[in-house]
Amino acid sequence: EIYCDNAATTAIDSEVIQAILPYLTTNYGNPSSGHWAGRKVKEAIASARQIVANLLGAEPEEIFFMSGATEANNLALSGAIQANDITHVITSKIEHKAVLQTLARYEKAGDIEISFVRLDDFGNVDLKHLENLLNANPQTLISLMHGNNEIGNITDIYAIADLAKRYNAIFHTDTTQTIGKLAFNLKEANIDFLVGSAHKFHGPKGVGFIYINKNNKIKPIITGGGQEKGQRGGTENVVGIVGLAKALELSYRSKAIVQNHVTGLKKHFISRLDDLTIGGITFNGESRSLTKSLSNIASVAFPCLSSGSLVNRLDALGIAVSGGSACSNLADGGSHVIAAIYKNPDKEIVRFSFSKFNTIEEIDHIVKAIIRIYQSDRIEEQSESL
Ligand code: PLP
Repeated sequence: EIYCDNAATTAIDSEVIQAILPYLTTNYGNPSSGHWAGRKVKEAIASARQIVANLLGAEPEEIFFMSGATEANNLALSGAIQANDITHVITSKIEHKAVLQTLARYEKAGDIEISFVRLDDFGNVDLKHLENLLNANPQTLISLMHGNNEIGNITDIYAIADLAKRYNAIFHTDTTQTIGKLAFNLKEANIDFLVGSAHKFHGPKGVGFIYINKNNKIKPIITGGGQEKGQRGGTENVVGIVGLAKALELSYRSKAIVQNHVTGLKKHFISRLDDLTIGGITFNGESRSLTKSLSNIASVAFPCLSSGSLVNRLDALGIAVSGGSACSNLADGGSHVIAAIYKNPDKEIVRFSFSKFNTIEEIDHIVKAIIRIYQSDRIEEQSESL
């Protein structure tokens, strides 16, 4: 079996498992309890917060643990809109649904107006247009992601942060696909809110975090026992939090090596696809690029085969890839990301996403499987005449 869907989720690192084991066994206290059992885990959470803050160039008081990036995005947007009386939000049509649906809720209620920033033919944010939108309406909340989960496009969030500062706007960025992969120094960037999810960088599922710049304020959406300084009530997911910090630590420790390895896999995959006699294979967004797109994502449109069909047939051969993202249901009308960029409604998307655990041999195996699928249908002959 080959797992090549690492933008959906990743395997937990064995060192992470070692780190969380004590919190599944002996260290089971409630962090809010005043006794020794509580203190032990309270300290573990404090240490995890410090680790995450150090790695991102933030302060521990700016990191709040959540159940994942979905919750963190919800909190950033709802919390910022409510706490800052935001009436105008600039976003893009290729954001994750956790952002788009949250904003749509506020728009429907009549609380905000949404402006969608223009995207170029490859799905890149048009910064000039963003500036025009800001010029017309400062006092705005900008929500633009760092790395796109379906096509891998990397957006220059530092340029956006500068624009936000210049126009007195608040800037939220979804960095779920880039945390642990790209470097951050939040002390220097004018970013107000930033989110991540542990299972995207070899940590456990169901735990993530939000960075809230100490100069900003937010209104909580989950109230209760006052945990996470009142930003998220509820007994902390200690196991998850310890695992998140360990996974992030490991990611940054081996960042250069992993980046190199994964880039090599993507490069090899692209060149193998280029060598095929199947005509008409194209890449989505900037996915073909090794610099403008995440090195772990190759988003491909294959001719004469629907994404659903190819994904299912690869699955039947033991290869796990996805059509768009795990959250975009193909039966529901396909990828909103592809629909936002391409005029051709039939443009297909099959996402191959790599991790440190993938090998060159696996890539060769996947390419052979693709050839087999084409040959079995004699699709190759049809596509050659395209
Ligand atoms: N944002 C992006 C860009 C993602 O890729 C994901 C994961 O699918 C999420 C948000 C949501 O993360 P989670 O499901 O861990 O809450």
